[in-house]
Amino acid sequence: MDPVFPPGVTAGILDRALKAFAGAVGADNVFTTPEDRDAYGDKFAIDDMRHQPYGAVAPSGVEEVRAIVRIAAENHVPIWPISRGKNLGYGAAAPELSGSIVVDMSRMKKIEMDVENGTVLIEPGVGFYDLYDYLQARGIPYWLSVPGNSWGSVIGNALDRGLGYTPYGENTSKLCGLEVVLPDGDLVRTGMGAMTGSPTWNLYRYGFGPAWDQLFAQSNFGIVTKANMWLMPEPEQVRGMDVEMDGMEDIAPLIDTLGALRREGVLQQSPTIGNWLRAANILTTREQWTDKPGSLSDDVIAAIRKKFALGWWGVSLRLYGRETITNASYAILEQAIGAIKPMSVKPSLWRRGDPIPPPQGGWMGVPMTFPMQNANWYGGRGGHIGFSPILPQSGRLALEQFRRAHARYQEFGMDPQTSFAFGERHLINVNAVLLNKDDPAFMKRVDPFLRALIADARSHGYGEYRTHLDYMDTVADTYDFNDHALRRLNERVKNALDPAGILAPGKSGIWPAAYAKERRS
Ligand code: ADP
Repeated sequence: MDPVFPPGVTAGILDRALKAFAGAVGADNVFTTPEDRDAYGDKFAIDDMRHQPYGAVAPSGVEEVRAIVRIAAENHVPIWPISRGKNLGYGAAAPELSGSIVVDMSRMKKIEMDVENGTVLIEPGVGFYDLYDYLQARGIPYWLSVPGNSWGSVIGNALDRGLGYTPYGENTSKLCGLEVVLPDGDLVRTGMGAMTGSPTWNLYRYGFGPAWDQLFAQSNFGIVTKANMWLMPEPEQVRGMDVEMDGMEDIAPLIDTLGALRREGVLQQSPTIGNWLRAANILTTREQWTDKPGSLSDDVIAAIRKKFALGWWGVSLRLYGRETITNASYAILEQAIGAIKPMSVKPSLWRRGDPIPPPQGGWMGVPMTFPMQNANWYGGRGGHIGFSPILPQSGRLALEQFRRAHARYQEFGMDPQTSFAFGERHLINVNAVLLNKDDPAFMKRVDPFLRALIADARSHGYGEYRTHLDYMDTVADTYDFNDHALRRLNERVKNALDPAGILAPGKSGIWPAAYAKERRS
């Protein structure tokens, strides 16, 4: 793979910056061969060549990150920070702007647990598996809230607002105080960390004056080098049920029932309702069901549902905590679900000390990667791209959104992997658009399909919570109040903090003045 240079940056400038990076982190931690470039690319992209890094540099600690940022700013070389770079479906390790140098923090793996307060101070390289092993090895009774692909880092997931399935499932809301390297190399601690030696950095989020943690999530205002996160105490009991609903329209009463229980606090977990494809695309491949192109026909859907005993929709509901409380909540849940006539209800019970059977791990803080098998659905080189608009917790509106999207799936000949993830007051309609990179005709339809979905959602006032690199400008465009006042604000902050425009240009559609011409909308 030939190198791509960032706009306005010559080979000579890059060479000088790379030599300076090698001086800061050691030549062994600077990566610029064609294989390196390939390794830091995005294998799940529609077009692998669209977001090519020039190379990568891997610091071992905060002072090296500061040195890298200063060198980048002096030389006007764009850099793209990653924690572990496993953000599959959204761009993985690849930068928005081709030619950027990836700052790979996967070597930074320090973990400090405050057992008394149930919080952990971690560096970006700490993966879900690392933190899980750390807690297990020391017998520390706290649980993680792992995402479906737990290969990545805890910080990267929280910064990109990824989701888990326990009551702590909205990982970004469990951040409490960050350490951040700013684009000029300055170092800041947010919240109570702004007071040297404060024992409450990990306990009180806001500090004094403006609170900054969320300004570093999905942004390009700084590189997070440490974060405090709250962990969930291991509960006495996890009691729940796996519910299947028979009809496509049954999504509406299911959402209305769960939304009410969620707002009331009976249900504290963030459940995700998934459609019938969720088991088939992990345990089988498409060719085992049909050789017909286009969206799967009703008889194939019926066969899949029969084989795995699935409804059109299914959801795993879990109650966490003291036995007496979860038992009482279970009775309420049982009655509410019974009232909407489920196709099946499978109760589950785990008590402290019981083994955790592998498929249950996601609800009990055990990292997993098996859901990534869905990338193999079509065979050949697979992948997926996310499309995830935010909706109100309304069964009617969710069903309407699903019907519109479903018509698009059929129009473009795609198989729908779709789900509705509950937040406290909202739903996220997470779609993994599955790819077959060895089928050029299929791949040609993916981009127009995603653009149609984004435009349809926008026309109903729904915006995405997170998106792939290819759609950052498009999605940012949909946030258009007062002629894109939010973008103007973001870019004023960006230009003030990062006058050289070096840090992750284009991330979330925020372009510094230096690269304003690169915006694709
Ligand atoms: P993971 O390690 O969980 O796979 P990534 O490293 O792929 O996550 O990062 C997810 C997204 O968050 C990327 O777009 C990346 O630019 C951003 N990001 C990750 N880590 C940091 C960090 N430490 N500081 C700032 N932004 C980050």
